[in-house]
Amino acid sequence: MTLTAAPNAEPATAGEAILRRQRVRESAARTYARSFPIVPVRAAGMTVEGADGRRYLDCLSGAGSLALGHNHPVVLAAIRRTLDSGAPLHLLDLATAEKDEFTTALLETLPAEFAARAKVHFCGPAGTDAVEAALKLMQTATGRRGTLAFTGGYHGMTAGALAVTGNVAAKEALPAGGEVTRLPYPFSYRCPFGLGGEAGERVAARYTERLLDDPSGGVVRPAAMIVEAVQGEGGAVPAPDGWLREMRRITAERGIPLIVDEVQTGLGRTGAMWAVEHSGIMPDAMVLSKAIGGSLPLAVLVYREEYDGWRPGAHTGTFRGNTLAMAAGAATLRYVAANGLAERAAQVGRLLLAELNGLRGRLPVIGDVRGRGLMIGVELVDAAAEADECGARPADPALALRVREACLARGLIVELGGRQDAVLRLLPPLTITDEQVRAVLDRLADAIESVAGSRGE
Ligand code: PMP
Repeated sequence: MTLTAAPNAEPATAGEAILRRQRVRESAARTYARSFPIVPVRAAGMTVEGADGRRYLDCLSGAGSLALGHNHPVVLAAIRRTLDSGAPLHLLDLATAEKDEFTTALLETLPAEFAARAKVHFCGPAGTDAVEAALKLMQTATGRRGTLAFTGGYHGMTAGALAVTGNVAAKEALPAGGEVTRLPYPFSYRCPFGLGGEAGERVAARYTERLLDDPSGGVVRPAAMIVEAVQGEGGAVPAPDGWLREMRRITAERGIPLIVDEVQTGLGRTGAMWAVEHSGIMPDAMVLSKAIGGSLPLAVLVYREEYDGWRPGAHTGTFRGNTLAMAAGAATLRYVAANGLAERAAQVGRLLLAELNGLRGRLPVIGDVRGRGLMIGVELVDAAAEADECGARPADPALALRVREACLARGLIVELGGRQDAVLRLLPPLTITDEQVRAVLDRLADAIESVAGSRGE
């Protein structure tokens, strides 16, 4: 492997050289780096500036982890204050004033009834580790092993979290994992029952209830059910509130703990502080990460105290006391709450959905527009193909790839997601301005039109 330029090659810019070295030296499993071949050197709010001086509006926001966008002043101030205070930066899970303050801020924002009797477990700093902790906690508490999880669900990449994730491609290269019963997640546009709407939602709940009660259904009594209130990686699919309440009823009646994975939906993203607030359900455990660290790595499991029967060290890990993340996270939690950013996300989300639906009326390659708050998906389809009984056409991942590229060329960072990687996922910061909303819509519309137009659609 050589990293020097060929004798007559154009001299590369510093940014190009970094990208070239990355391609040579980093893993084939790298992801976002493939989608966005840029070298960010500066960022503020929603704007990212590349080494080549180009500026981008960032609708990826660190995979939904930047509630306040990049380098928000309150986050920077909290980090600087902590650095200047001489506080130790890394402390396993020892008590610190910063962790104490983070825990207070977290418990103050969580639904009051849940927080009143909750325990917080600090995990290794990734959502997937908190998912592992949640599954182990409930296995310990119930003495059972199995888990109920949903089609389209995404919970992380470590073994247990991957086992409850739906994405087949991410799993099939690996040996079989633990026993997971896969249940249908209601998805109106691509309804697994060909029904859609409330009928599809009702059948999905009925199937789950009947399966659990069927002595020949093949499901050993599980340790937990894990669910996202809005599926993120699954393609911005919101669960209907009534269906979630049904999942709560069904699990409660059968003594099955309910874990809600709010790694992506948490902290105002869906237009409520926590996505469980839309349906009003009280989970047994909530898994939190991404935004709660205010752009630094942090993950926690919060659960009802009656489950707190596991032993000291039952889920340990070295990096569970990142002082800067506690400070940045507490500042972010307080800022989102004090400035009504969940409400703002709800309001901007409604506007975006309305505008994007308008665009769908004009551009048949947009098959579906959906989401909740600032967790929005635009599914691109093959407009020439026949629609199924729910009006859905086949997803068009090749078109989506070209649209993502066209967006980047127009200064817009949008990642793809969804079952077939054909969903443009909009996850802007909750601080997005009205002007930025307009710019996102204009660039997105222009990108889709240019790509679809060039194919004669
Ligand atoms: N759960 C959900 C709902 C997620 O969206 C993600 C990440 N996209 C995870 C868990 C895993 O988090 P992490 O990537 O930090 O391990």
